[in-house]
Amino acid sequence: MRSNSISLQVDDLERRFGVVAKQLAQCAEHGEFASIVSRHSEKPSGCPACAEIRQREQDQADQLAVHTKNATAMLQRKLGSAMVPKRFAGKTFGQYSAVLPAQKRNLAKCQSYADNFSEHSQAGRCLLLLGKPGTGKTHLAAAIAWQVMQCTAATAVYRTVGGILQYIKGSYDSSAEYTEAEAFATLVKPSLLIIDEVGATKPTEFEQATLFAIINGRYEELRPTVVISNLMPEELPAVLGERSVDRLREGGGIGLVFDWASARAEVGA
Ligand SMILES: [Zn+2]
Repeated sequence: MRSNSISLQVDDLERRFGVVAKQLAQCAEHGEFASIVSRHSEKPSGCPACAEIRQREQDQADQLAVHTKNATAMLQRKLGSAMVPKRFAGKTFGQYSAVLPAQKRNLAKCQSYADNFSEHSQAGRCLLLLGKPGTGKTHLAAAIAWQVMQCTAATAVYRTVGGILQYIKGSYDSSAEYTEAEAFATLVKPSLLIIDEVGATKPTEFEQATLFAIINGRYEELRPTVVISNLMPEELPAVLGERSVDRLREGGGIGLVFDWASARAEVGA
């Protein structure tokens, strides 16, 4: 009989900890066990094997909860530092209306870029979204950033050229809380950097040099950059500089042209 091997003795130490008695009990799952009657609890203790299983399940649930919480917090942090403008935040490929063949083609290419981001990332392969305003370039870039941040450990950051210049210049201020090197580092470090509004204003030498420093810094680290511009491909070198364009094209850089009429113009007055 198993009960023979179960001790119902209460020793001195147990007694000091409040154990009054032990009684033989039966667990449907684990058989007989010594149920402890204690001064500290109203009911005699249950099956220790069951308790262990419950504890293990609870630990696993706790771990999963912590993991989920961390993952959510990390995604929130990533989304927060991505600084995608409100208008485009959370934009998905599914929300992009593609009717014309060129729209469908560019949508498919951007979707594929996001789907295969780890491969593009390893090759440092850049993406250029060029052409007419109001054709959804920023929407597609935001959708790439959103998917990449959600589905991989990668980080993505969105900045306009104006925002970048302001940020870099901000480091020259005597009261600045970051150095120029730190400013550049935050733009070189993300797995993906989206630079919007390239060529929106007449470029200065400072602008060209700044953008080259960032694009080249990322090129050297094999980190892809997405460039968005209302210019056509042939206009880009004059504005961005030949050297930057070379870097963007290297490693099989993908250029997509958006040359249909603006959706905003159609909807607008
Ligand atoms: Zn049990």
